[in-house]
Amino acid sequence: MQILFVASEVGPWSKTGGLGDVAGALPRALAERGNEVVVVTPRHGSIDPRAAGLQPVRTALHVRGEPVALWVKRGPAPVYFVEHPHLFGSRRGLYGDGGRDHPDNAERFAFLTRAALALPGALGLRPRILHLNDWQCGLGPWLLRHEHARDPALAGARTVFTIHNLAYQGLFPKQVLPALGLPWEVFRYEAMEFFDQLSFMKAGLAFADALTTVSPTYAREILTPEGGASLDALLRHRARDLHGILNGIDVHAWDPARDPHLPAHFTPGELAGKAACKAALQREVGLPARPDVPLVGLVTRLAEQKGIDLVAAALPALLARDVQVVLLGSGDAAYEEAFARAARERPDRVAARIGFDEGLAHRIEAGADLFLMPSRFEPCGLNQMYSLRYGTVPVVRAVGGLADTVEDFDGFTRGTGFRFSEYTPQALLTATRRALDVFRDRRAWRGLVERGMAEDNSWERSAARYEALYRTLAP
Ligand code: ADP
Repeated sequence: MQILFVASEVGPWSKTGGLGDVAGALPRALAERGNEVVVVTPRHGSIDPRAAGLQPVRTALHVRGEPVALWVKRGPAPVYFVEHPHLFGSRRGLYGDGGRDHPDNAERFAFLTRAALALPGALGLRPRILHLNDWQCGLGPWLLRHEHARDPALAGARTVFTIHNLAYQGLFPKQVLPALGLPWEVFRYEAMEFFDQLSFMKAGLAFADALTTVSPTYAREILTPEGGASLDALLRHRARDLHGILNGIDVHAWDPARDPHLPAHFTPGELAGKAACKAALQREVGLPARPDVPLVGLVTRLAEQKGIDLVAAALPALLARDVQVVLLGSGDAAYEEAFARAARERPDRVAARIGFDEGLAHRIEAGADLFLMPSRFEPCGLNQMYSLRYGTVPVVRAVGGLADTVEDFDGFTRGTGFRFSEYTPQALLTATRRALDVFRDRRAWRGLVERGMAEDNSWERSAARYEALYRTLAP
């Protein structure tokens, strides 16, 4: 089946979070199953075409009468990079700079979506499915019906819209409508209007043929007023078309036996390399290189969603124990400062690296003993699955995808991590202390590590589920 997959970020070329991982891995997993998948994404300013090995493509691609240049990275699922010097090429941040969104994000991602819809005609493709991701692509289903109704390249094409995070909705003042080339009739309650603003997310939810989100539990949570970010009524209305399909992880990029970011390698049967990774990580971040002390890792956006306020509140009590904490994250300036300060005050116990560092993220997954993810909500979450694969025991709040992927340790021979429910520092602390106690019991800990490493969270199963959904839409 031919599938056109559109995403605003695609790893490894551009990534700010889970969407980049998914858009990098799912198309390849679909291609391995025999599908013809083409990926479309912007050529962001951070992507150097030459360094990335992109090739220019000769085409007659146009968006609203303007010619558009294209690059391609060939492979099993070729990735087309849409060029626009002003909207994408000259920006550093993908969505904003210095904590502020780019003011023209509505124009930027409407442009991406229109370029993606024009691509099949320009390249002679006939996709049966347009798989659109997150609010950035939310206009796609409407544009398909209204601007491509007679496009032979898209005749009969059906749309799948995936919610990676309902909290980011792409809301803009209604005054942008004319500049986007959209008629005022879309600004209705049943269409794209959301509390007197234009909502790209709502546009996707209202007009796509099928909706998916990235875990079964999150698919249920977003139907409720607590989890629905004010879109729960619309989602309940579309509940029959909404599917929760758990994300997989890229088991090639995240493989402790081969990972090029690691100083040593390991497998479930041979864990000496993990101890070497721990020692190297302690040296790298300036913590005392002690094998016996439990090392707690965090790799996260420093945002409310991630429960970082709980971590900050629980930290002093946690540090009363003999533990080490290493955090890699960026985001909210107040939290960046709080963790930098904690590291200055307790250099023997806390290391904080503020920034985005792919290599260090891998080395923390490999070198830590425990991994904290106390999220307020979590559509799927990838780091807990990386942790399991790297023999690092996750401590998670049992919400969304965290509830679907981490089983609580029963004290004997079942479970892969430690879960808690209440959103309080105390509950996080209790679960973490429980983990630290088990850490002292070498046999029990080894069992946890081995069961986690044996989990199969590869993309294969999830790709099969997407494919089954595509077939129900375009038999
Ligand atoms: P989200 O998409 O909500 O941020 P996910 O757990 O789905 O959360 O995905 C986060 C991805 O981004 C993971 O691959 C994680 O390793 C990565 N990541 C997050 N913060 C950083 C950082 N500061 N440096 C490197 N990688 C990071």
